[in-house]
Amino acid sequence: MNMEKVIIVRYCEIHLKGKNRGYFEKVFMTNLERSLAGIRHEIRKPSGRYIVENFDEDRVEEIIDRLKKVFGTHTLSLGYKVGADMNEIYSAVKLLIPDSGSFKVEANRADKSFPLNSMQINAEIGGRILAQNPKLCVDVHDPNTTICIDIRENGTALVFGDRIKAAGGMPVGTAGKGLLLLSGGIDSPVAGYMIAKRGMVIEGLHFHSYPYTNMQAREKVEELAKILSTYTGGMNLNIVSVTHIQETIHKYCPAEMMVTLLRRFMMRIAERICIQTGAQCIITGESLGQVASQTIEGMTSSNAVIQGMPVLRPLVGFDKTEIIERSRAIGTFETSIQPYEDCCTVFLPKHPLIRPKLESVQKAEEKLNIEELVQEALNSLESVQF
Ligand code: ATP
Ligand code: MG
Repeated sequence: MNMEKVIIVRYCEIHLKGKNRGYFEKVFMTNLERSLAGIRHEIRKPSGRYIVENFDEDRVEEIIDRLKKVFGTHTLSLGYKVGADMNEIYSAVKLLIPDSGSFKVEANRADKSFPLNSMQINAEIGGRILAQNPKLCVDVHDPNTTICIDIRENGTALVFGDRIKAAGGMPVGTAGKGLLLLSGGIDSPVAGYMIAKRGMVIEGLHFHSYPYTNMQAREKVEELAKILSTYTGGMNLNIVSVTHIQETIHKYCPAEMMVTLLRRFMMRIAERICIQTGAQCIITGESLGQVASQTIEGMTSSNAVIQGMPVLRPLVGFDKTEIIERSRAIGTFETSIQPYEDCCTVFLPKHPLIRPKLESVQKAEEKLNIEELVQEALNSLESVQF
Protein backbone atom coordinates (compact mmCIF):
# COMPACT_ATOMS: atom_id res chain seq x y z
CA MET A 1 0.00 0.00 0.00
CA ASN A 2 1.21 3.44 -0.86
CA MET A 3 0.57 5.98 1.88
CA GLU A 4 1.66 9.50 1.13
CA LYS A 5 1.64 12.46 3.54
CA VAL A 6 -0.53 15.43 2.55
CA ILE A 7 -1.51 18.69 4.24
CA ILE A 8 -4.86 20.40 3.95
CA VAL A 9 -4.95 24.18 4.32
CA ARG A 10 -8.28 25.80 5.20
CA TYR A 11 -8.96 29.49 4.90
CA CYS A 12 -11.81 31.48 6.31
CA GLU A 13 -14.37 31.64 3.57
CA ILE A 14 -16.58 34.22 5.23
CA HIS A 15 -14.25 36.96 4.04
CA LEU A 16 -14.11 35.63 0.55
CA LYS A 17 -17.68 35.89 -0.61
CA GLY A 18 -18.68 37.94 -3.60
CA LYS A 19 -16.82 39.10 -6.62
CA ASN A 20 -13.46 39.53 -4.88
CA ARG A 21 -13.25 35.85 -4.11
CA GLY A 22 -11.28 34.79 -7.17
CA TYR A 23 -8.78 37.53 -6.53
CA PHE A 24 -8.35 36.60 -2.85
CA GLU A 25 -7.83 32.98 -3.73
CA LYS A 26 -5.24 33.81 -6.34
CA VAL A 27 -3.25 36.02 -3.96
CA PHE A 28 -3.51 33.38 -1.25
CA MET A 29 -2.25 30.65 -3.57
CA THR A 30 0.72 32.84 -4.58
CA ASN A 31 1.52 33.44 -0.90
CA LEU A 32 1.32 29.74 -0.05
CA GLU A 33 3.58 28.94 -2.97
CA ARG A 34 6.07 31.60 -1.92
CA SER A 35 6.14 30.35 1.66
CA LEU A 36 7.26 26.92 0.43
CA ALA A 37 9.91 28.21 -1.95
CA GLY A 38 12.92 25.92 -1.94
CA ILE A 39 10.97 22.84 -0.80
CA ARG A 40 9.58 20.36 -3.32
CA HIS A 41 5.78 20.39 -3.20
CA GLU A 42 2.59 20.71 -5.20
CA ILE A 43 -0.46 22.73 -4.19
CA ARG A 44 -3.89 21.98 -5.59
CA LYS A 45 -7.16 23.65 -4.88
CA PRO A 46 -10.01 21.18 -5.29
CA SER A 47 -12.80 23.29 -3.73
CA GLY A 48 -12.83 25.68 -0.83
CA ARG A 49 -9.44 24.53 0.48
CA TYR A 50 -5.89 23.85 -0.58
CA ILE A 51 -4.09 20.49 -0.60
CA VAL A 52 -0.31 20.34 -0.38
CA GLU A 53 1.14 17.08 -1.63
CA ASN A 54 4.14 15.47 -3.30
CA PHE A 55 6.44 17.13 -0.79
CA ASP A 56 9.63 16.11 0.85
CA GLU A 57 8.24 14.10 3.80
CA ASP A 58 11.38 14.61 5.88
CA ARG A 59 10.57 18.30 5.95
CA VAL A 60 6.93 18.03 6.94
CA GLU A 61 7.40 19.91 10.24
CA GLU A 62 9.12 22.76 8.48
CA ILE A 63 6.39 22.87 5.83
CA ILE A 64 3.66 23.04 8.47
CA ASP A 65 5.54 25.78 10.31
CA ARG A 66 5.81 27.86 7.18
CA LEU A 67 2.20 27.35 6.12
CA LYS A 68 0.98 28.24 9.61
CA LYS A 69 2.47 31.69 9.21
CA VAL A 70 0.78 32.55 5.93
CA PHE A 71 -1.99 35.06 6.69
CA GLY A 72 -5.30 33.77 5.44
CA THR A 73 -4.58 30.25 6.71
CA HIS A 74 -7.03 29.48 9.51
CA THR A 75 -6.34 25.84 10.21
CA LEU A 76 -4.37 23.06 8.64
CA SER A 77 -4.17 19.32 9.14
CA LEU A 78 -1.68 16.65 8.36
CA GLY A 79 -3.12 13.66 6.59
CA TYR A 80 -2.49 10.76 4.23
CA LYS A 81 -3.35 9.97 0.67
CA VAL A 82 -4.28 6.29 0.23
CA GLY A 83 -6.23 4.14 -2.22
CA ALA A 84 -10.02 4.48 -1.98
CA ASP A 85 -10.38 1.28 -0.03
CA MET A 86 -11.74 0.86 3.50
CA ASN A 87 -8.71 -1.09 4.75
CA GLU A 88 -6.26 1.45 3.40
CA ILE A 89 -8.34 4.29 4.82
CA TYR A 90 -8.40 2.64 8.23
CA SER A 91 -4.60 2.21 8.27
CA ALA A 92 -4.28 5.96 7.79
CA VAL A 93 -6.92 6.63 10.47
CA LYS A 94 -4.89 4.55 12.93
CA LEU A 95 -1.93 6.89 12.48
CA LEU A 96 -4.06 9.95 13.25
CA ILE A 97 -6.22 9.03 16.23
CA PRO A 98 -5.03 9.68 19.79
CA ASP A 99 -5.12 7.02 22.55
CA SER A 100 -7.97 8.54 24.51
CA GLY A 101 -10.64 11.23 24.42
CA SER A 102 -13.57 11.76 22.10
CA PHE A 103 -13.64 11.67 18.32
CA LYS A 104 -15.89 12.00 15.33
CA VAL A 105 -15.50 10.74 11.76
CA GLU A 106 -16.55 13.07 8.96
CA ALA A 107 -16.60 11.41 5.56
CA ASN A 108 -17.20 13.11 2.26
CA ARG A 109 -17.72 11.19 -0.95
CA ALA A 110 -16.92 13.02 -4.19
CA ASP A 111 -16.87 9.68 -6.01
CA LYS A 112 -20.49 8.56 -5.85
CA SER A 113 -19.58 5.12 -7.21
CA PHE A 114 -17.74 4.29 -3.98
CA PRO A 115 -19.73 1.37 -2.50
CA LEU A 116 -20.46 3.05 0.88
CA ASN A 117 -22.10 6.44 1.32
CA SER A 118 -20.74 9.03 3.78
CA MET A 119 -22.94 7.87 6.67
CA GLN A 120 -21.88 4.28 6.13
CA ILE A 121 -18.19 5.24 5.99
CA ASN A 122 -18.55 7.17 9.27
CA ALA A 123 -20.26 4.21 10.93
CA GLU A 124 -17.81 1.63 9.63
CA ILE A 125 -14.62 3.54 10.48
CA GLY A 126 -16.06 4.76 13.80
CA GLY A 127 -16.93 1.19 14.67
CA ARG A 128 -13.44 -0.08 13.92
CA ILE A 129 -11.86 2.71 16.01
CA LEU A 130 -14.10 1.93 18.99
CA ALA A 131 -13.47 -1.81 18.75
CA GLN A 132 -9.70 -1.32 18.89
CA ASN A 133 -9.42 1.65 21.27
CA PRO A 134 -11.32 1.13 24.50
CA LYS A 135 -10.32 4.57 25.82
CA LEU A 136 -11.90 6.47 22.92
CA CYS A 137 -15.53 7.49 22.67
CA VAL A 138 -17.67 9.17 20.03
CA ASP A 139 -18.82 12.75 20.43
CA VAL A 140 -20.39 14.20 17.30
CA HIS A 141 -21.00 17.66 18.80
CA ASP A 142 -17.73 18.62 20.46
CA PRO A 143 -15.08 15.97 19.76
CA ASN A 144 -11.41 16.30 20.79
CA THR A 145 -10.39 14.91 17.42
CA THR A 146 -12.14 14.97 14.07
CA ILE A 147 -11.02 12.51 11.44
CA CYS A 148 -11.94 13.69 7.95
CA ILE A 149 -12.13 11.24 5.07
CA ASP A 150 -12.45 12.41 1.49
CA ILE A 151 -13.16 9.82 -1.18
CA ARG A 152 -11.89 11.42 -4.35
CA GLU A 153 -12.88 10.74 -7.92
CA ASN A 154 -9.51 9.41 -9.00
CA GLY A 155 -9.54 6.26 -6.88
CA THR A 156 -7.71 7.80 -3.96
CA ALA A 157 -8.86 8.93 -0.53
CA LEU A 158 -7.54 11.65 1.76
CA VAL A 159 -7.61 11.11 5.51
CA PHE A 160 -6.95 14.07 7.82
CA GLY A 161 -6.47 14.39 11.55
CA ASP A 162 -6.58 17.27 14.03
CA ARG A 163 -6.85 20.87 13.05
CA ILE A 164 -3.77 22.93 13.81
CA LYS A 165 -4.57 26.58 14.43
CA ALA A 166 -2.73 28.91 12.04
CA ALA A 167 -2.16 32.68 11.82
CA GLY A 168 -5.61 33.56 10.45
CA GLY A 169 -6.26 36.97 8.92
CA MET A 170 -6.33 37.92 5.26
CA PRO A 171 -3.83 37.15 2.49
CA VAL A 172 -1.07 39.77 2.31
CA GLY A 173 -1.57 41.70 -0.90
CA THR A 174 -5.32 42.12 -0.65
CA ALA A 175 -5.42 45.33 1.39
CA GLY A 176 -2.97 47.78 -0.18
CA LYS A 177 0.43 48.76 1.13
CA GLY A 178 1.64 50.58 4.25
CA LEU A 179 4.94 51.96 5.53
CA LEU A 180 5.85 50.65 8.98
CA LEU A 181 8.05 52.86 11.14
CA LEU A 182 10.24 50.13 12.54
CA SER A 183 12.41 50.92 15.55
CA GLY A 184 14.35 48.29 17.44
CA GLY A 185 11.77 48.17 20.22
CA ILE A 186 9.03 45.76 21.19
CA ASP A 187 6.04 47.63 19.82
CA SER A 188 6.58 48.44 16.18
CA PRO A 189 7.15 44.85 14.96
CA VAL A 190 3.87 43.88 16.64
CA ALA A 191 2.11 46.81 14.96
CA GLY A 192 3.47 45.69 11.58
CA TYR A 193 2.38 42.12 12.18
CA MET A 194 -1.16 43.20 13.03
CA ILE A 195 -1.60 45.29 9.92
CA ALA A 196 0.01 42.69 7.65
CA LYS A 197 -2.43 40.19 9.12
CA ARG A 198 -5.26 42.25 7.70
CA GLY A 199 -3.81 41.74 4.24
CA MET A 200 -1.57 44.77 3.86
CA VAL A 201 1.83 44.62 2.21
CA ILE A 202 4.38 46.12 4.60
CA GLU A 203 7.31 48.30 3.63
CA GLY A 204 9.65 49.20 6.52
CA LEU A 205 11.35 52.46 7.46
CA HIS A 206 14.03 52.73 10.10
CA PHE A 207 15.74 55.90 11.27
CA HIS A 208 19.21 55.83 12.75
CA SER A 209 21.56 58.49 13.97
CA TYR A 210 24.87 56.90 13.25
CA PRO A 211 27.50 57.49 14.71
CA TYR A 212 25.46 58.31 17.83
CA THR A 213 23.70 54.99 17.38
CA ASN A 214 25.82 51.96 16.53
CA MET A 215 25.78 49.29 13.84
CA GLN A 216 24.29 46.71 16.23
CA ALA A 217 21.15 48.81 16.44
CA ARG A 218 20.81 48.54 12.69
CA GLU A 219 21.52 44.82 12.61
CA LYS A 220 18.85 44.33 15.21
CA VAL A 221 16.26 46.14 13.13
CA GLU A 222 17.27 44.07 10.11
CA GLU A 223 16.74 40.95 12.18
CA LEU A 224 13.26 42.17 13.17
CA ALA A 225 12.43 42.88 9.53
CA LYS A 226 13.61 39.39 8.66
CA ILE A 227 11.32 37.81 11.26
CA LEU A 228 8.38 39.92 10.07
CA SER A 229 9.07 38.94 6.50
CA THR A 230 8.48 35.27 7.36
CA TYR A 231 4.83 36.26 7.84
CA THR A 232 4.53 38.81 5.09
CA GLY A 233 6.37 36.94 2.37
CA GLY A 234 9.08 39.56 2.06
CA MET A 235 9.69 43.11 3.08
CA ASN A 236 11.72 46.02 1.84
CA LEU A 237 13.42 47.93 4.64
CA ASN A 238 14.31 51.58 4.05
CA ILE A 239 17.00 53.03 6.28
CA VAL A 240 17.43 56.78 6.71
CA SER A 241 19.83 58.86 8.77
CA VAL A 242 18.38 61.57 10.99
CA THR A 243 21.72 62.48 12.54
CA HIS A 244 21.93 65.93 11.05
CA ILE A 245 18.27 66.65 11.80
CA GLN A 246 18.88 65.83 15.47
CA GLU A 247 22.03 67.89 15.63
CA THR A 248 20.20 70.81 14.09
CA ILE A 249 17.22 70.55 16.41
CA HIS A 250 19.61 70.25 19.34
CA LYS A 251 21.39 73.38 18.28
CA TYR A 252 18.45 75.64 17.45
CA CYS A 253 15.38 74.45 19.35
CA PRO A 254 14.33 74.13 23.00
CA ALA A 255 15.76 70.93 24.49
CA GLU A 256 12.42 69.64 25.77
CA MET A 257 11.07 69.67 22.21
CA MET A 258 13.65 67.24 20.80
CA VAL A 259 11.40 64.20 20.64
CA THR A 260 8.35 66.12 19.43
CA LEU A 261 10.26 67.80 16.63
CA LEU A 262 12.12 64.64 15.64
CA ARG A 263 8.78 62.82 15.41
CA ARG A 264 7.51 65.45 13.01
CA PHE A 265 10.57 65.00 10.82
CA MET A 266 10.10 61.24 10.89
CA MET A 267 6.54 61.66 9.69
CA ARG A 268 7.47 64.07 6.91
CA ILE A 269 10.18 61.72 5.66
CA ALA A 270 7.82 58.76 5.98
CA GLU A 271 5.18 60.44 3.86
CA ARG A 272 7.73 61.16 1.12
CA ILE A 273 8.86 57.54 1.16
CA CYS A 274 5.22 56.42 1.00
CA ILE A 275 4.79 58.45 -2.15
CA GLN A 276 8.00 57.02 -3.63
CA THR A 277 7.11 53.42 -2.83
CA GLY A 278 3.36 53.51 -3.41
CA ALA A 279 2.53 52.98 0.27
CA GLN A 280 -0.88 54.37 1.23
CA CYS A 281 -0.47 54.90 4.96
CA ILE A 282 2.04 55.16 7.79
CA ILE A 283 2.01 52.55 10.58
CA THR A 284 3.52 53.13 14.03
CA GLY A 285 3.79 51.16 17.26
CA GLU A 286 2.49 53.96 19.46
CA SER A 287 0.22 53.19 22.39
CA LEU A 288 -1.70 55.93 24.13
CA GLY A 289 0.07 57.23 27.23
CA GLN A 290 2.89 54.68 27.12
CA VAL A 291 5.65 57.29 27.13
CA ALA A 292 5.78 61.07 27.22
CA SER A 293 5.60 61.47 23.45
CA GLN A 294 2.62 59.17 23.02
CA THR A 295 -0.06 61.47 24.34
CA ILE A 296 -2.93 62.65 22.18
CA GLU A 297 -1.16 66.04 21.96
CA GLY A 298 2.01 64.29 20.76
CA MET A 299 0.03 62.39 18.14
CA THR A 300 -1.74 65.58 17.05
CA SER A 301 1.61 67.25 16.63
CA SER A 302 3.01 64.47 14.46
CA ASN A 303 -0.17 64.00 12.44
CA ALA A 304 -0.22 67.71 11.64
CA VAL A 305 2.72 67.45 9.23
CA ILE A 306 1.13 64.69 7.14
CA GLN A 307 -0.66 66.00 4.11
CA GLY A 308 -2.69 63.25 2.64
CA MET A 309 -2.70 59.82 4.26
CA PRO A 310 -3.78 58.13 7.47
CA VAL A 311 -1.45 57.09 10.28
CA LEU A 312 -2.43 53.64 11.55
CA ARG A 313 -1.62 52.95 15.20
CA PRO A 314 -2.92 49.45 15.79
CA LEU A 315 -1.55 49.31 19.36
CA VAL A 316 -3.10 52.54 20.53
CA GLY A 317 -5.39 50.85 23.06
CA PHE A 318 -3.06 48.07 24.17
CA ASP A 319 -1.28 47.68 27.51
CA LYS A 320 2.43 46.98 27.41
CA THR A 321 1.82 43.49 28.82
CA GLU A 322 -0.56 42.70 25.95
CA ILE A 323 1.99 43.93 23.43
CA ILE A 324 4.73 41.83 25.03
CA GLU A 325 2.50 38.77 24.91
CA ARG A 326 1.97 39.26 21.19
CA SER A 327 5.60 39.95 20.54
CA ARG A 328 6.51 36.66 22.21
CA ALA A 329 3.89 34.84 20.17
CA ILE A 330 5.18 36.17 16.85
CA GLY A 331 8.81 35.60 17.79
CA THR A 332 10.16 39.16 17.83
CA PHE A 333 10.43 39.63 21.61
CA GLU A 334 13.86 38.08 22.15
CA THR A 335 15.35 40.27 19.43
CA SER A 336 13.51 43.40 20.58
CA ILE A 337 14.82 43.23 24.14
CA GLN A 338 18.46 43.11 23.14
CA PRO A 339 20.02 46.34 24.37
CA TYR A 340 20.45 48.99 21.70
CA GLU A 341 20.50 52.68 21.17
CA ASP A 342 17.51 54.14 19.41
CA CYS A 343 17.83 57.51 17.77
CA CYS A 344 15.10 58.75 20.09
CA THR A 345 17.48 58.36 23.02
CA VAL A 346 20.12 60.58 21.43
CA PHE A 347 20.02 64.12 22.84
CA LEU A 348 17.12 62.96 24.96
CA PRO A 349 16.15 65.82 27.30
CA LYS A 350 15.62 65.16 31.00
CA HIS A 351 12.07 66.46 30.76
CA PRO A 352 10.52 65.98 27.35
CA LEU A 353 7.34 67.90 26.58
CA ILE A 354 4.37 65.75 27.44
CA ARG A 355 1.59 67.85 25.97
CA PRO A 356 3.19 69.83 23.17
CA LYS A 357 1.08 72.73 21.93
CA LEU A 358 0.95 72.74 18.17
CA GLU A 359 1.54 76.50 17.92
CA SER A 360 4.68 76.45 20.05
CA VAL A 361 5.98 73.43 18.16
CA GLN A 362 5.45 75.22 14.86
CA LYS A 363 7.08 78.33 16.29
CA ALA A 364 10.15 76.37 17.38
CA GLU A 365 10.48 74.95 13.90
CA GLU A 366 10.62 78.37 12.27
CA LYS A 367 14.37 78.41 12.88
CA LEU A 368 14.87 75.28 10.77
CA ASN A 369 15.11 74.82 7.04
CA ILE A 370 12.68 71.94 7.06
CA GLU A 371 12.66 71.11 3.37
CA GLU A 372 16.44 71.06 3.14
CA LEU A 373 16.74 68.79 6.19
CA VAL A 374 14.11 66.41 4.83
CA GLN A 375 15.82 66.27 1.43
CA GLU A 376 19.19 65.66 2.99
CA ALA A 377 17.80 62.79 5.05
CA LEU A 378 16.14 61.32 1.96
CA ASN A 379 19.48 61.41 0.19
CA SER A 380 20.88 59.06 2.84
CA LEU A 381 18.25 56.43 2.02
CA GLU A 382 19.42 52.84 1.70
CA SER A 383 17.19 49.82 1.25
CA VAL A 384 17.57 46.17 2.13
CA GLN A 385 15.24 43.48 0.82
CA PHE A 386 14.16 40.58 3.02
P1 ATP B 1 8.90 50.64 19.92
O1 ATP B 1 8.87 49.57 20.94
O2 ATP B 1 8.18 50.31 18.68
O3 ATP B 1 10.29 51.18 19.71
P2 ATP B 1 8.46 52.63 21.87
O4 ATP B 1 7.58 52.22 22.96
O5 ATP B 1 9.93 52.61 22.10
O6 ATP B 1 8.07 51.83 20.56
P3 ATP B 1 8.77 55.29 20.85
O7 ATP B 1 10.22 55.21 20.92
O8 ATP B 1 8.04 56.46 21.41
O9 ATP B 1 8.00 54.07 21.48
O10 ATP B 1 8.34 55.14 19.34
C1 ATP B 1 7.00 55.17 18.93
C2 ATP B 1 6.91 54.69 17.51
O11 ATP B 1 7.66 55.55 16.65
C3 ATP B 1 7.54 53.31 17.33
O12 ATP B 1 6.63 52.29 17.64
C4 ATP B 1 7.88 53.34 15.87
O13 ATP B 1 6.76 53.06 15.07
C5 ATP B 1 8.31 54.79 15.66
N1 ATP B 1 9.78 54.91 15.84
C6 ATP B 1 10.46 55.25 16.95
N2 ATP B 1 11.79 55.23 16.74
C7 ATP B 1 11.96 54.87 15.45
C8 ATP B 1 13.10 54.66 14.60
N3 ATP B 1 14.34 54.80 15.04
N4 ATP B 1 12.89 54.27 13.32
C9 ATP B 1 11.63 54.10 12.86
N5 ATP B 1 10.53 54.30 13.60
C10 ATP B 1 10.68 54.66 14.88
MG1 MG C 1 11.45 52.65 20.74
